[in-house]
Amino acid sequence: MHSPGAIQPAELWRLFMRAMAVVDYARPLELLHVPAADIPAGHAWIRVLACGVCFSDVKIARGQMPFSSSLRLPHIPGHEICGEVLEAPGGFWFQKGDRVLVYNYWGCGRCPMCRIGQENLCLNLQGWVGFTNPGGFQEGLAVPPERLLPLPPGISPEQAAPIGCAIATAYRAVVTRAAVRPGELVGVIGVGGIGLHAVQIARAAGARVIAVDIDPRKLELARVFGAVAVLPEEAEETARRWGDGIGLDAVIETVGHVHTVDLAIRMIRRGGRLIGVGYRLGDMASIHTPRWVLEEITLMGSRYALRHEVEQAIRLVAEGLVRPVIDEVLPLESANEALERLERGQAIGRLVLQVGSFSGV
Ligand SMILES: [Zn+2]
Ligand SMILES: [Zn+2]
Repeated sequence: MHSPGAIQPAELWRLFMRAMAVVDYARPLELLHVPAADIPAGHAWIRVLACGVCFSDVKIARGQMPFSSSLRLPHIPGHEICGEVLEAPGGFWFQKGDRVLVYNYWGCGRCPMCRIGQENLCLNLQGWVGFTNPGGFQEGLAVPPERLLPLPPGISPEQAAPIGCAIATAYRAVVTRAAVRPGELVGVIGVGGIGLHAVQIARAAGARVIAVDIDPRKLELARVFGAVAVLPEEAEETARRWGDGIGLDAVIETVGHVHTVDLAIRMIRRGGRLIGVGYRLGDMASIHTPRWVLEEITLMGSRYALRHEVEQAIRLVAEGLVRPVIDEVLPLESANEALERLERGQAIGRLVLQVGSFSGV
């Protein structure tokens, strides 16, 4: 436990941590200087090095999340967090100075969903970093030690940060939910932060990939990663041509709009799987029931990732099988620029905020 009297001069920054916070849904984030709260008993204290900016952060900043009306402001977003352990309780694998990735969805471990191994659907969430709890758009964070994941050497903080959400989410969608097999034909609709990594993971799993997006620059990058990349108006015909006249084995839908989900449904073959990763408040997906039943279409949601899936995503990056796609690393104070670029669809891959100073990888 910490009281202000226990803070050493070298730790003065803890009293005035820089944070970019949502103060009003109608206004840009503001730079605040916040004192670190007392570290709860048994928690580790990490210095945030880098934090990725996810489209969820746009929705959080603009008040477009299901929980927005009850979220207390100011709120500090940021859930793709790479940090350095400054202080930690004993008995865990890490030591002071270790680089870690934060698992941002803190299940209770006791509810019926946690008990069956689906902590990503916990009914009694203890914390949701950056969503309903303070996140990584600030210099320090207290984290229960079991939510910290080890990072092997050789992955820089800005490369590591997007693994915490974008790459881990893509991993669960492609590997666990779609269960993509070598030789299959997989569609990825929307090649933003999640989609560009879903393309790479599907390729690493041995699948052929058709990527769909409205932005030619994103399609160009998807081609670099081995996908056939097309505009939405060409997608259905391309799916049929490459898919033996019947369509794709599976589609990962990352956008969550009515018309992109509809496009996904038209692209999959009989017996195919549609995995939804994107969602928007108020949007509704629909399917003709004869198509669903008589053609055995599987409709599946995919939410974030379990801790072991995040660890597998880390391994794929460490092995060089997946390359984190970073558009640009910006200083913490440029969080608003990052949100606006994401909102306008102008980020090619992830924008990452450098929060604390670090050197090398
Ligand atoms: Zn995210
Ligand atoms: Zn639970």
